[in-house]
Amino acid sequence: MQYQPGPYQAAAEVPAPADVAPAAAAPPGAGLGWFDKVRAMLVRTGLPPEPPVYDVLWRYVRDDDHDLSLAIDKAIAGDGLTISTLMTLRETHLGQLSEAQVNQLIAEAQGQAEALGWRIEGGQTDLADYGRAIAVGGEKLAGPIDAAGLAALLEQLGAATATMQAAIAKLMTELEQAATESRALADRLTQAERAAVTDALTGVMNRRGLMTMLEKAQEAAIAAGVPLALAVVDIDHFKRFNDRFGHAMGDDVLCFVARHLADRLGRDGGFVGRLGGEEFVGVMPGVGLQAAAGRIDRVRAELAGQVLRSAVDGGSMGRISFSAGVAEHRGDQSGDELIARADSALYTAKRLGRDRVVPDRS
Ligand code: GH3
Ligand code: MG
Ligand code: MG
Repeated sequence: MQYQPGPYQAAAEVPAPADVAPAAAAPPGAGLGWFDKVRAMLVRTGLPPEPPVYDVLWRYVRDDDHDLSLAIDKAIAGDGLTISTLMTLRETHLGQLSEAQVNQLIAEAQGQAEALGWRIEGGQTDLADYGRAIAVGGEKLAGPIDAAGLAALLEQLGAATATMQAAIAKLMTELEQAATESRALADRLTQAERAAVTDALTGVMNRRGLMTMLEKAQEAAIAAGVPLALAVVDIDHFKRFNDRFGHAMGDDVLCFVARHLADRLGRDGGFVGRLGGEEFVGVMPGVGLQAAAGRIDRVRAELAGQVLRSAVDGGSMGRISFSAGVAEHRGDQSGDELIARADSALYTAKRLGRDRVVPDRS
């Protein structure tokens, strides 16, 4: 189904630039060539010129992520590039670290390990020199030695000790610095790991994070001999909301719904992930089918009972509801199978008129 960009329809009326060659010939606006290409894509696809769309198309025209470019070409050659396809592609391709970013982190870690190796090796050389100085001193002391010789030897040993102390102080500083660098790198790796499983828009888990957590929760439920239920939640008539209030406001609603679900289900040990587009999954460990359906229905009623107001001007945007299908984990069914059963119950909920929760009957 083609997205109708309502207020952005004007974009299609602007004539496409005849030639969108990169602006290499115009240095002050070097990026304008890419901009023109993105603009041409917006006109061609009829997609709204909003930041997330622009972001993906910018990467596309520059071929920053070749897999993403291929997927977009495929969509265009098929049913056309709709906003929901583009958003799903954005989620799957940009939610993860690029290969270049991963390689850079690995190179940094290798560089740090190598530098630390050199520092320790340097310290070992200093220590060996000191050891030699003491050994020579020991040999001299074993033989006859006069007062002048003793004074000279003590001076040599004193100098060697001072050198060693300086070397140790330097090594300590360098080790401290290495520890700080390692901690900073570890933090960046943790952030990168988190970003790889987090949905950039709503902050809840993305599909990848969700599937990992779901699998763990299923295993834990089996091990503990307790039930586990899952709801697939889909916002009702969301396309209509987008068309009426704009994509940016739609994004705000997605964040609002994600937070609402995560907060309410999180209170009882559940968790939430974004499956893609305007679909979420709520996982409820320790809860059976009927109790889970009741729980998600209360979350639904609470959301549907609120009038949404624009954060910009306080104007009413009406109410938003969702439909949900709920299924209970069975035997050794995979996460995908469980989601598929909840999804077909969701389909029934939509068919029965939306704004309701339907438990799986299969
Ligand atoms: P239904 O009640 O049958 O679910 O109708 P619907 O309009 O919600 O469903 P449909 O699948 O027809 O449209 C889903 C819409 O969700 C289309 C797309 O514009 C919108 N959408 C998907 N991802 C995003 C996003 O990240 N941001 C915004 N603002 N909209 C999105
Ligand atoms: Mg949907
Ligand atoms: Mg929907």
